[in-house]
Formats: sequence, C-alpha cells, structure tokens
Amino acid sequence: MSEIERTATSALEQGRPVWEYADAPESTKIVKLEDRYGLFVGGEFVEPKSGTYFTTIDPATEEPLAEIAEAGPEDVDLAVTAARSAYETAWRDLPGSERAKYLYRIARQIQERAREFAVLETMNGGKPIKESRDVDLPLAAAHFFYYAGWADKLEYAFPNRAPRPVGVAGQIIPWNFPMLMAAWKIAPALATGNTVILKPAETTPLTALLLAQVIQEAELPPGVVNIVTGAGATGSSLVEHDDVDKIAFTGSTEVGKIIRRSTAGTGKRLTLELGGKAANIVFEDAPLDQAVEGVVNGIFFNQGHVCCAGSRLLVQEPVFEPLLDKLKERLQTLRVGNPLDKNTDIGAINSRAQLTKIEELVAVGVEEGAEIYQPECVLPERGFWFRPTLFTNVSQSHRIAREEIFGPVLSILTFRTPDEAVEKANNTPYGLSAGIWTEKGSRILWMAERMNAGVVWANTFNRFDPTSPFGGYKESGFGREGGLQGLEPYLELGR
Ligand code: NDP
Repeated sequence: MSEIERTATSALEQGRPVWEYADAPESTKIVKLEDRYGLFVGGEFVEPKSGTYFTTIDPATEEPLAEIAEAGPEDVDLAVTAARSAYETAWRDLPGSERAKYLYRIARQIQERAREFAVLETMNGGKPIKESRDVDLPLAAAHFFYYAGWADKLEYAFPNRAPRPVGVAGQIIPWNFPMLMAAWKIAPALATGNTVILKPAETTPLTALLLAQVIQEAELPPGVVNIVTGAGATGSSLVEHDDVDKIAFTGSTEVGKIIRRSTAGTGKRLTLELGGKAANIVFEDAPLDQAVEGVVNGIFFNQGHVCCAGSRLLVQEPVFEPLLDKLKERLQTLRVGNPLDKNTDIGAINSRAQLTKIEELVAVGVEEGAEIYQPECVLPERGFWFRPTLFTNVSQSHRIAREEIFGPVLSILTFRTPDEAVEKANNTPYGLSAGIWTEKGSRILWMAERMNAGVVWANTFNRFDPTSPFGGYKESGFGREGGLQGLEPYLELGR
C-alpha cells in the first residue's frame, strides 16, 4: 500500500475527509553542481592551503552532493588580508551611491536565479521547496534591495553622527536559513562600507558558494566579500584573527558564549543572535482556527529549525481542549517527506547530529512524564526525519519546556490569567520572540509591553521583513539585524 493509500485509509477510518495529492517534485536540473568547491578569497575560487575537503550531503537522501574546501588558519588569514586590502583600497571610500549599485545588482541576480538557489537550498538543507522558494529566497533578495537603499543615506539615518564603517567583519552563520542568513549578514555590512569574510555552516555551504558566483558576476571589487567554508574550527580562527574588527554570529547560545569570551578585551565589535524558546500564547477569545494555523507555522515551519520558533504553546484553560483537538487534527494533514515535493510541509532534519539531539530531548520529555502525541505518517527509509510532535502535561521545569530542541516538537502548557501567561512566557533564559493570539487590541498591547522578547507577533507568527529589526534579550544575544537598527553594528557613530 502506498503512503497516500495508507493515509487515506487511516483518515477514512477516523471519519475525516481525505485530501489526496499527486507527487509534485521540483526538478533539480536547474542546479549545476561542481564536484569540488574551493574557497572564495579575493574574488576567486582558490584551493585551500589546508589541503583538506569534506563532503556535503543531501539530508533527505544522505547522498553526497559535492566536496567542500575546509579553511584552516592560513586560509582564514588570506581571506582577512584580502578583505583588509579591499576595504582600504576599493570599498571604504567608494561613494554610497556606487556601493548601492553593486547591492542592487546582487539583489536582481538573486531574483533572476531564485529557482536555482531555492532548489539548491532544499537539496543541501532539507527544507521544503515551498519554503525556500516562497520565504528564504524572496527575503534574501529583499534584504539586498533594502540595504542598497540605505547605502547613500547613512547621514540621514544617523544625523549629526558622522557614520563611518567599522572595517573588516567576520560573519558566522548557521544551517537553518543558509542563504537568508548570508543576506542578513552581507547586505548591511556592504551598504555601510565594510568588507566581509563569511563562514557558512558545515552542513549547508552550497548556496553561499552560489552567492559567491553571483558576487563575481556582479563584478564586486575582489576581496569585498570572501567566503571560507569549514567547521567550527574555521569559525574559531576567524573570531580569533587579530585583524578582524567585528564579529557577527548567529547560532547556538553555547558557541555564542565561547565567542563572547574570546572577543572580550580585544576591542572587536560583537553581535550575537542566539537561541530561543518562544511562547506562543493563545487567549480564550482568539479565533481558534486561525490560531491553529499560527501555532503550526510557529513550530513546524522549517522543521522547527528556527531560533524564534514558537516552541512553547501557552493556552488559556477554557480553550485548551478544543485547541488541542484541532491541533491534533491539523497535524494529521501535514505531509512529511521529500522536501523537493511542492506539497511537502515538513522536510528532512538538517543532519544526523541534529536528529540525535531531537530524539534525545524527546525521550527525556517522555521520561519526565509529559504525554506525547505524534500523527501517523510513513517516513522515508533513508535520510533524517522526525514526525511532528506535541507534548501535553508539560511543566515549566521539564527540559522540553526549557531547552531549545530546534526540531518539530511543541510543548503545550496552560494558564488562567494574563498575569500568569506573562510570568510563564518570560520564565526562560531566552528572550527572542513571542506570539499573542487574542481578539482584543488592548490585550495585545498590554501583553507586548510585558514580553521579554525582541520580537512580538500578534495574531500571526514567523513574519519577517527586512525593514523590521530582529534580535534578542538575555541568552538570545544582543544587537539587531534588519531595519535601520541593523546598520548600527556596522558603523562607528561620532557623538
Ligand atoms: P553552532 O552554534 O555550533 O553553529 C553555528 C555556526 O558557528 C556554524 O557556522 C558553526 O560551524 C560555527 N561554529 C561552531 N563552533 C564555533 C566556534 N567555536 N567558533 C566560531 N564558530 C563556530 O550550532 P550547531 O550547528 O552546532 O547547532 C547546535 C544547536 O544550536 C542546535 O541544536 C540549536 O539548538 C542551536 N542553533 C541555533 C541557531 C539559531 O539560529 N539560534 C542556529 C543553529 C543552531 P559548523 O556548522 O561548521 O560547526
């Protein structure tokens, strides 16, 4: 029996309507993979001095995709030298209107090649094609367009502050939004006159390397953007390099702490965008069907590999049962599987290591006495997969309610009063985002004021826009990316 038939039979037995979809796989023909990729230094792809390469795979099939250069300390040094030279000779003193032209060119190229980028992102990272196509790529292009617009208006953005670039920026990004994070980092840095060395995550280097090709085609002066691939040690060499003026990091709180320790006292500027354990809070007056969609989007978007994921659902007691019923029903309709299929809602977990981490934390949840719910679904035999998962009977002290799982796992808690909702929502070491679902505008404002979170969504979740600042409090880090605020970490501002 096929998966469709099995799901249909099970749904019919439960008296639910059956929605069938034929497979709709996106073709991978548009992507031209090289066997081997070098490092992008000084405007060229070069062999690594380290002489080492690692294999990058498709997490949905475990098939190898390409060999990727691993940058050692000497390679990082060459990239920093290239960035310094480009900063001093080509970029720092270029008029903002000229820098903007390059950024617009990159933005347009990303748009033109969006399909190629989206397919490659899905192949290398496991996220559903409908997400890389409709979210990651349009937003990546939008960031370049948006910051291109600021490049010649910095004096208006910061009046009487004589904005000047910081210098050479080392930028380290994670694997959950590889292309989008590259855009978040590179676009504001370039718009403000800095040059950069970007270190993509080990498991997802391919779209950054395609972006390097776009940068070559845009004829950006050599060395303005350098891309060094590798693992944590490469990131560490970049952080510790003496000639780097600023580090921008997105990733785990654990590594963020290491970076903060290593940059302390060096005079390097630092911004950290770290983990989260966001509360998505549903009040009894919320439109429940809409809230269910928001809750599902909040935790299952990108397999829950989202720092601002709504991983703790707080439900006001009177609507707990109806909301839970609706959620369970909705989970049964989510399609888990081939990320290249346009119907897929939940793709592959990014790596075996991440899958192991999710499995371990879920097992802890069960051991600690929470009640697990997972819909029936047939998972592919190869690749890394995890069913969408709900936990009820969760207490605030449970590890699944405190730690970032970074997978498709939702912990559900209840509350009675708005004060209790505030207390529970803020009872976390993190402070990145929150969601509020209610019909009352006054309650939205009352709650938003009390949330210890950098971003608060009301009657929606996981909405991103380049004009809007994003960042955290507490162990979620500091500094803002996006919007006017996202320019500041890349500028020296006179007083
Ligand atoms: P990391 O924080 O290790 O990775 C983020 C980036 O930092 C990657 O490019 C990584 O390289 C690099 N890196 C790793 N160690 C160092 C170091 N010592 N110095 C400088 N750079 C370093 O995240 P993981 O991939 O290990 O994921 C672990 C957990 O972190 C996840 O389960 C999740 O909970 C959380 N996470 C949170 C993210 C967020 O957006 N807030 C994003 C990613 C993960 P490499 O990939 O090559 O190791």
